[in-house]
Amino acid sequence: MKTDRTPTSPSLTRRLALKTIALVGRAGAFSRRAAYPGRTPDGRRKLGVALVGLGNYSTAMLGPSLRKTQWCELRGIVSGTAAKRKQWAQDFNLPAGSVYDYEHFHALAGNPDIDIVYVVLPNFLHAEYTIRAARAGKHVICEKPMALNPEECRQMIAACCGAGRQLSIGYRLRFDPFHREVMRFGQEKVFGAVKLIEASLGFNYPDPQSWRFKMKEGGGGAIMDLGVYCVEAARYVTGENPVRVTAQACSFEKDRFVEIPETYHFQMEFSGGAVSTHTVSYSFCVDRLYAAAAQGGGWFELEPAFRPNAPSGRTSEGPMKIARVNQMAAQMDDFARCILDGRVTRVPGEEGLTDMLIIAAIKDAVRTGQPTLVGSNCATRKREPGPPAPIADGVEMKMKH
Ligand code: NAD
Repeated sequence: MKTDRTPTSPSLTRRLALKTIALVGRAGAFSRRAAYPGRTPDGRRKLGVALVGLGNYSTAMLGPSLRKTQWCELRGIVSGTAAKRKQWAQDFNLPAGSVYDYEHFHALAGNPDIDIVYVVLPNFLHAEYTIRAARAGKHVICEKPMALNPEECRQMIAACCGAGRQLSIGYRLRFDPFHREVMRFGQEKVFGAVKLIEASLGFNYPDPQSWRFKMKEGGGGAIMDLGVYCVEAARYVTGENPVRVTAQACSFEKDRFVEIPETYHFQMEFSGGAVSTHTVSYSFCVDRLYAAAAQGGGWFELEPAFRPNAPSGRTSEGPMKIARVNQMAAQMDDFARCILDGRVTRVPGEEGLTDMLIIAAIKDAVRTGQPTLVGSNCATRKREPGPPAPIADGVEMKMKH
């Protein structure tokens, strides 16, 4: 049975190579017909996005959001499932030359309609496909968590920098007005200096056969998938990186949770004097972010906080009256504008690396049962939107537009 899965062997047969040349040719011929007259609000050519992996997130969120974007549009797909390729091509009016299976991923290099490759694959494939997309000359958005470990993140950053292409992580909440407001509340001490953050995220994930339950594919379960939202929130409310973490993990349903823990608890300490506490789980539903200030009983909270397009907020002074936006459209449009205007995205790979260093420290703390210092390579953050984070490992950003 054909599936959407990436092939296990990347080797190219001669037949495959010939097919590829034909595909590249078709893609090139298509672009010469200027089939995409789409213009940005300021009259420039919209950028083309190719989604790689047509699973739940692409289907439920990214595809529909790409119908609402103003600075980019869906112009290509990569999937291993013929039926999905056919359906998406029909739904989005995509030409055959911009519809790829994984064996022909490299042919994206010859398709000038595609500017941005969006990697929406299981976590263990993020590094490989980001690096391959950069080598194909494309800017890349990679879904969260950025990769399985900090080393993979560094390789992804180096590949994109080396190719002169931007790398961004799919942190849609950085573009959400509720989350931007809690960043302001925390970083500008609107309710006083934040001393406590509680942020938790969980859902009851029913399918233990999923890649999310496999250590080598998901990287550790809820801490990777959901922990990243809580780490991000604590970082952007305080405007600081944590210096020390403690963490615990437990599983009650031993038949369902064989390779990964069911639930993680972790706590973080920040140099400015704030502490944070978090629970992430695949066995119950929770979705909230709460922050309390030192003096005067000031607080603010979002609940729901993290699920797409649904935040609702209150403060010690009353409800937050803010209009919701399509977070994914805002995120993708911002990245397209950064590329068009030659600016660095506010969520570059270094931000994903920083979160991965913190998660690595959390995993170490679970393993050792000891408080753990967070790695030294974290991106520094002041206020949002702040200056771009320094490039890790001395790799310099060279951008081509
Ligand atoms: P999913 O399992 O629904 O989809 C993954 C897709 O990858 C499927 O179409 C699958 O067929 C395909 N695939 C290709 N090669 C594969 C292989 N070797 N093994 C398994 N699947 C393979 O997952 P999803 O929920 O769409 O998540 C995809 C990525 O998006 C994950 O990294 C996840 O963390 C991220 N995500 C982000 C958000 C967000 O709000 N930013 C929300 C959901 C998921």
